[in-house]
Amino acid sequence: MFQHLHSIFVDLQRCEGCAACIDECPMRAIHLPHGKAVVIHERCIDCGQCMLACPRRAISAVTDTLESLSQHAYKIALLAPSLEVLLDSESPSGRVSSRDLGSAFSNLGFDEVFEVARAARVVAFIVERHIEERKGQAPLLSTSCPAALRLVQARFPGLMTHTARVLSPMEVAARLAKEKAAGKTGLSIGQIGAFFISPCPAKVTETERPILTTRSAVDGVIGIDRIYGTVVKQLAEKGSRKGQYELPDGTERETGTDRPAQTVQGGRLRRLKVSGIQTVTGLLEEMERGRPVDADLIELHACAGGCLGGPLNPRNPLEKTTDVGRLIEKYRRRRGCYDDQCLLSIYKKRSFESTAPVGPGSTETPEQVGCVGSP
Ligand code: SF4
Ligand code: SF4
Repeated sequence: MFQHLHSIFVDLQRCEGCAACIDECPMRAIHLPHGKAVVIHERCIDCGQCMLACPRRAISAVTDTLESLSQHAYKIALLAPSLEVLLDSESPSGRVSSRDLGSAFSNLGFDEVFEVARAARVVAFIVERHIEERKGQAPLLSTSCPAALRLVQARFPGLMTHTARVLSPMEVAARLAKEKAAGKTGLSIGQIGAFFISPCPAKVTETERPILTTRSAVDGVIGIDRIYGTVVKQLAEKGSRKGQYELPDGTERETGTDRPAQTVQGGRLRRLKVSGIQTVTGLLEEMERGRPVDADLIELHACAGGCLGGPLNPRNPLEKTTDVGRLIEKYRRRRGCYDDQCLLSIYKKRSFESTAPVGPGSTETPEQVGCVGSP
């Protein structure tokens, strides 16, 4: 894995100093010292909102390349749910088969794919048990979105005690996938590499400087934008693609818009879904002021519409017509392969629960680095 403090960087040749990125940054982490945008890395939470806002596409995220696969004897691609939703949308049947997916990623150099949606089901099960155990207390804040978690840590440290103490679906997926691969191949865990195919620059920071664990099990983060065009082309050759979307590597991104919070009454939990960095920030400000929230779980997503709005995703062909949050929920249910007995035994082992101390991390608040007032 490459070693950077942050994933986000500005191409000064492209930057025209329009300040659109500054308006979107929730951390006041960008300034224009000489008419060009400069990121203040001590403040940045890698949410990627500046990438989405920049009309010049001057801001990018550094992620790993496929060359880093060579450091491992056995390589696993951890597929983000949003990637699979996008690829499914390209398929004439509405679903790319596991065999075609495996074959496309095998051509990229991977030995196996593992769907992170499966781990998301494990995480959801554990969070539900935690909520049952703490009945009557304030709602839990989900920790699946690393940008939202870092926002809480940096700007609302008093709310860290409300965060779910469970590893993210990406971390759980890496551990489950490596364990399974070690059993299958006889290799040691250290010989197996797990690479997250990511819609999000904050995942890079999550693996390099994790908040919920001392060491990440993820060995690299590869942006979806790096591989999407190649995978789509290979699926098209197998007839698994409709063909009406042209989405080459490094394709266009669409500026997300904040969406209103949405309450979902499903199963035993009352979940409040909040997406878009401004909406998330507004809710956290209200909670910090002591406003009660009538929910068991608050799902925070920095990107508008959740991970499908991630800055490293190609332009989303579904975004204008589909409630992407509901789509991901439906998708998770369909792909989840662990039954309740299996989930219960995973939960009892408690191996995916966070033991890291709750507290402020290395990202500093704007006030700590000398900013006057709140962003
Ligand atoms: S990634 Fe987010 S926090 Fe960092 S500079 Fe961009 S908008 Fe600000
Ligand atoms: S939005 Fe883009 S062009 Fe405008 S100041 Fe920021 S980086 Fe430069």
